[in-house]
Amino acid sequence: MSGNNVRLQAIKDVEAYVPPAPTFVTDEAPGAIFGENVFSLAVMQKRLPKLVYRSIVATIEHSKPLDPMVADAVASAMKDWAMEKGATHYSHVFYPLTGLTAEKHDSFFEPAGGGLSLAEFAGKTLAQGESDGSSFPSGGLRNTFEARGYTGWDPTSPAYVLDNPNGKTLCIPTVFVSMFGDALDHKTPLLRSQQSMAKHAERVLRLFGHEKPDHVVSYAGAEQEYFLLDRHFFLARPDLLNSGRTLFGAKPPKGQEFDDHYFGAIPERVLGYMMDCERELFKLGIPAKTRHQEVAPGQFELAPMFERANIAADHQQMLMTTLKRLANKHGMECLFHEKPFDGVNGSGKHVNFSIGNSTEGNLLLPGDTPHENAQFLVFCAAIIRAVHKYGGLLRASVASASNDHRLGANEAPPAIISIFLGDQLADVFDQIAKGGATSSKEKGTLLIGVDTLPVLPTDPGDRNRTSPFAFTGNRFEFRAPGSLQSIAGPMVTINTIMAEALDYIATELDTSIAAGTEFNVAVQNVLAEIIGNHGAAVFGGNGYSEDWQVEAASRGLPNLRTTLDALPELISEPAMEVFEKYGVFTHREMHSRYEVGLEQYTRSIGVEARSTLEIGTTLVLPAAVRYQTEVALNVGALKAAGIETDTSSLLEVSTPLTALRAALGTLRAALETDPAADPFDEAKHARDALLPAMTGVRTAADQLEGIVADDLWPLPTYQEMLYIL
Ligand code: ADP
Ligand code: MG
Repeated sequence: MSGNNVRLQAIKDVEAYVPPAPTFVTDEAPGAIFGENVFSLAVMQKRLPKLVYRSIVATIEHSKPLDPMVADAVASAMKDWAMEKGATHYSHVFYPLTGLTAEKHDSFFEPAGGGLSLAEFAGKTLAQGESDGSSFPSGGLRNTFEARGYTGWDPTSPAYVLDNPNGKTLCIPTVFVSMFGDALDHKTPLLRSQQSMAKHAERVLRLFGHEKPDHVVSYAGAEQEYFLLDRHFFLARPDLLNSGRTLFGAKPPKGQEFDDHYFGAIPERVLGYMMDCERELFKLGIPAKTRHQEVAPGQFELAPMFERANIAADHQQMLMTTLKRLANKHGMECLFHEKPFDGVNGSGKHVNFSIGNSTEGNLLLPGDTPHENAQFLVFCAAIIRAVHKYGGLLRASVASASNDHRLGANEAPPAIISIFLGDQLADVFDQIAKGGATSSKEKGTLLIGVDTLPVLPTDPGDRNRTSPFAFTGNRFEFRAPGSLQSIAGPMVTINTIMAEALDYIATELDTSIAAGTEFNVAVQNVLAEIIGNHGAAVFGGNGYSEDWQVEAASRGLPNLRTTLDALPELISEPAMEVFEKYGVFTHREMHSRYEVGLEQYTRSIGVEARSTLEIGTTLVLPAAVRYQTEVALNVGALKAAGIETDTSSLLEVSTPLTALRAALGTLRAALETDPAADPFDEAKHARDALLPAMTGVRTAADQLEGIVADDLWPLPTYQEMLYIL
């Protein structure tokens, strides 16, 4: 009866698995391969005429507009370099609103005269590509009759050669826009927002006496969490295949209660995989640095070194692709879903963020002199204002059906966006708020530029892991982004709201100074005003507690629990105004992002609901029915033999079986409801009807998992998936 049980077969296959031969190269110096496949500045310097090289550096390093004359020269050098490395194809790579990476490959060769000849790869080909992007979400920005989307070369992110055992491809990072110039991707707004933030940060720096500050950029370092499981188990779980998370599965007898996984020894198979990944990432110039086991069984983390946000965002996507691809090579599957296993900690992607430039360094690093510290406080104050004024937007920037399972589930920050400063910095702002009143601290009255601030530790020990937006000594860590999402969305929001806050500060300072106020006093005033009006977002307590929910409400901080509560923030007046004012999104583009957000939400829950129905009906129900028959036969046989027996064993399986049938009926009915005309109502139906109906099916099925004979159970269990690696 169990001959075709895919689960039992998977267990056998896992046992028989032979790992791939190691790829370790013993005589290779550590780091020798770093950037080997990247068309980097160093490569360009060697291969490009001096003037062309200088012009491209000005664009990459100092955000100068690209001189169209250089494209031809760069294209030709890029092609030669890639072909010397064995590339036969090139691909414009872009980041559509699905959050995935899209590529369209073209050959360097074309058929000619009975053979292949080298196709033209001119500046034009490099600079612009045309892609029939009609299947990418555009939220109404494109009709199908004008379905063309254009990819445009993004010279700020280096091109690279992607290795595949069967060939090599030159990959060119691009932006993706409609024929009217509307952004259809994550990269375009990221570049726009970087520019805007830089402009106002530089104004503030000039006020602090830096006459010619170098171009300011934002940096991002993303910590990627992920799960690994044996691929045989993955393939035996249609829910994981379809939706990236388990829609069924009772909790294992051993969970994460012993905390014995966090930073535990990494299993050999996983370590081999990680090393393989790091080598590939190094070749692509991605500075993979920290690796460790995470809190949950089967969960790991990889954190590359921080880089400029636009490059970090591309690298982050490449990192996810690499982790996925190599997991398959090692017989495993890599899951980025925010909550692949119910009742087990989920995965996030903490985005560490700072701003700075080559002349002033990191602007979020406390300084040694009162003047430097005043400047540091101004940048911190900008963040306080930004997070308080636009907390709802930050929440919306991490909103997705999958991340809803994680936020606020006592393992990740709540949906309330607050800011953690650490005791010392919070105390400094407290004193500033009191406006020069005598403070209890030994330094006495705190006057900007006059008194020395207490020395602020650059790596404070009092890290608060429950805060969504935490100061960690020289950067802020935004902990709400989901493991599956591109970091570009959150970075666009952070840059834009920082641009607004820095613009506000620079303008206030300009005005007061023009009115004759002394600089230090003007700074003191603006800091006091910001902490007075926006200090409500500062919170140092336990963000996971119930009390905080109550207190946050009394402070007027929004608590946007689900994606559907958060998405409307995107089309609120203040949001559309700030994005338009700083040149990041037009109203049209904001509406399109909102529409795409809704569509993605509804679609992903729809897939889950249909998978739940199918698995419940075709796998779980039959297994339970078979087992019920076995028990019934047994009860009958005992009765026939005159052996006294009660029928409770039969009831034990029939009761949840009846519940499962009923729950499947409810889910089927919810799926068959006519779609609502308004996309928001349709998304609400997904949230309020489909999700609860899926939970109903799961509850009954999970109960059956503890009752039905093990050799009949069709789905790999949590225990098998999480502990056999
Ligand atoms: P944690 O202790 O928070 O888990 P990790 O070492 O895992 O820290 O990751 C910290 C991340 O923060 C890394 O990606 C690191 O490069 C990044 N980071 C460090 N300094 C900065 C900075 N000034 N700006 C942005 N990111 C930074
Ligand atoms: Mg970490």
